[in-house]
Amino acid sequence: MIIGIDLGGTNLRIGAVTSDGQLQASAVTGSQAIAGARDPAGELCGIIADYVEKNRIQDIEAISIGVPSSVEADKETVICTTNIRNRAGEPVFCHMNLAEKIREHFHVPAFVNNDVKNILLHDIAANHLEDQKIVAGIYIGTGVGASIMIDGRLLEGKDGAELDLGHMPYFGGDASCSCGKKGCCECYASGWRLRKIQEEFYPDTAIGELFTRHREEAPMKEFIRACAHVYAVVATIFNPDTIVVGGGVPEMADFPREVFEREVNACTGRDVMTYGFDYVYSQKHAGKGVIGAALFARMQMESA
Ligand SMILES: [Zn+2]
Repeated sequence: MIIGIDLGGTNLRIGAVTSDGQLQASAVTGSQAIAGARDPAGELCGIIADYVEKNRIQDIEAISIGVPSSVEADKETVICTTNIRNRAGEPVFCHMNLAEKIREHFHVPAFVNNDVKNILLHDIAANHLEDQKIVAGIYIGTGVGASIMIDGRLLEGKDGAELDLGHMPYFGGDASCSCGKKGCCECYASGWRLRKIQEEFYPDTAIGELFTRHREEAPMKEFIRACAHVYAVVATIFNPDTIVVGGGVPEMADFPREVFEREVNACTGRDVMTYGFDYVYSQKHAGKGVIGAALFARMQMESA
């Protein structure tokens, strides 16, 4: 058994994953317990210990956690959880070696990875894409996350801060971004932007029904084009076998896949489009980050 954890801005999911990738005894708790604790890493260890005891889990091979942050190249140190903050408004984990704390507490191997990388590992396994040369996953939720698998390995930058696509520049954009820059991708293609569109144009429509009711209208069409743009940039750079489309926005009801794909294809560089690529849609499944965390741990242990 590997204990997998998916720590998000709102919820922490935990589960035990068998060697063949089956999720058992899945549980969920609010991330606020960690954010509000005086010792957040200690609180996390407490949550894991309670879970293990309550579910009588034995023979733990490793503990692996996905975090909504970049992780340093050591696969242990969280860089900064900008969307999990304590009462004082400070990020809960900043340049913290979380794996070391877990290892010292439980005396088993511990791994920390970016949550989107774990989800891509899940989606690759779920769709049997392991043998492809390049798989690019882009996940549009509140923000934009991405991960690229090249020859069976996840792309890693020098410091682990690669693929910060939400904050790549959209040329000519002048909207102010939460990061302090202007005209970032997230200002145009994100759940945050969709919320703004709803407030401005469709205040009487629930956000979950925006595609169902308004996908033919100009503000929504422009939003879909903005989302397609980031996929087209990545496709043009990487010439992938497959693009995985996921995150809260594409997983919404009636997301117009056909229109979206037509737009991505039209914007992608012609050399890449000579060959084309497949689209895979990430399934709406709450446990995928937990399973992905376990897959990551197994991958690290096998390559060690
Ligand atoms: Zn930004």
